[in-house]
Amino acid sequence: MTDMSFLTTLITDSTAKIVLFVLDGLGGLPDPTSGLTELETANTPNMDNLARDGICGLLDTVGIGVTPGSGPGHLALFGYDPIRFEVGRGVFSALGVGMELGPEDVAARVNFCTIENGIITDRRAGRISTDENARLCAKIGKVIVEGVEIEIVPEKEHRAALVLHGTGLSDEVSDTDPQRIGEAPLECDATSVGGEEAERTARIVNQYISRVVDIISDEHPANMIVTRGFSKYPNLPKMTEIYSLKPAGIATYPMYKAAAKLVGMDLIETGPTLADEIAALKTVWNTYDFFFLHYKPTDSRGEDGDFSGKVKAIEEADAQIPALMGLRPDVLAITGDHSTPALLKMHSWHPSPLLFHSKWERRDSVEAFGETACVGGGLGRFRAVDLMALMLANAMKLEKFGA
Ligand code: ZN
Repeated sequence: MTDMSFLTTLITDSTAKIVLFVLDGLGGLPDPTSGLTELETANTPNMDNLARDGICGLLDTVGIGVTPGSGPGHLALFGYDPIRFEVGRGVFSALGVGMELGPEDVAARVNFCTIENGIITDRRAGRISTDENARLCAKIGKVIVEGVEIEIVPEKEHRAALVLHGTGLSDEVSDTDPQRIGEAPLECDATSVGGEEAERTARIVNQYISRVVDIISDEHPANMIVTRGFSKYPNLPKMTEIYSLKPAGIATYPMYKAAAKLVGMDLIETGPTLADEIAALKTVWNTYDFFFLHYKPTDSRGEDGDFSGKVKAIEEADAQIPALMGLRPDVLAITGDHSTPALLKMHSWHPSPLLFHSKWERRDSVEAFGETACVGGGLGRFRAVDLMALMLANAMKLEKFGA
């Protein structure tokens, strides 16, 4: 892995435009009947053309065998070692819904769930609608416990973000989400390294949850909340400083907006479809030189276990490639932040297929974009955190090292 601060010493000026197109959860597993993955099944003439004209490979997001969340997945693609720059789930949730996080505030991810006789029977409360979620969050409102103001804001479906605004708080506290049904929600506890502030924070969280229970216990199916990923705002170095890029992020889901914001990207307003996103990208093409474009449906259909739905989502993305290439990016990388095989219905450890297109890169023999073909791709298999260096080199933004 090329060290980030070392990379900074090589940075030079360039007018090249880089596009990082992330099809969330792109990688899949072969359908047992056809032997083809979702990407290999999809009819993707545009990406296949680019693969023929470009070079392919495979990316390990965090490390071999490690299944990443989308947060670390994206940080890696932006060149931030996700193990060194660990960002809590709570921070991603809170920033994603536009909540302000002060340096001492603590954020957590919330799931509305269903409990019966104290036992969780549905971890997602039947995936309540976002509207229902918003109604419940409004009903709960702002709660003040021991002088700490606690705010809950809806995300999508059953998910919400929680922020404790105050001083003397710690994020060294445990989840209350047992992450499985048939168990009672856990008490929030200080971790072993937490100390007094963590003890207090845990106590506040537990009091807060019992207040919430009083407010929503007569609701159905969402009559309880569980929390996880308590975390404080991390001060990550910004892409502008490290790479001297002017980066723009275009995403529709809160989580990915948050990832973009954390590394200092400007968020560009966009409509809900990929066509909208590319139209938004077009409007700022002259203003920026690095564009992160995020596409969510591939991951959603994978998590649903909907193989053909994921195939269709990939085909819909492919149909937008001509609009993207119409802008003539100097460097284009198309990949995923992790794999989400429909067969597993969840994120997985399998490396992500990578399609890389630049006039300064070598060619390989890959004829169509797909996992199996990428195994034989000219870029081989490498860590996602190194993709950024490759994009910068192809943008002529890295000077020679040494004499
Ligand atoms: Zn993802």
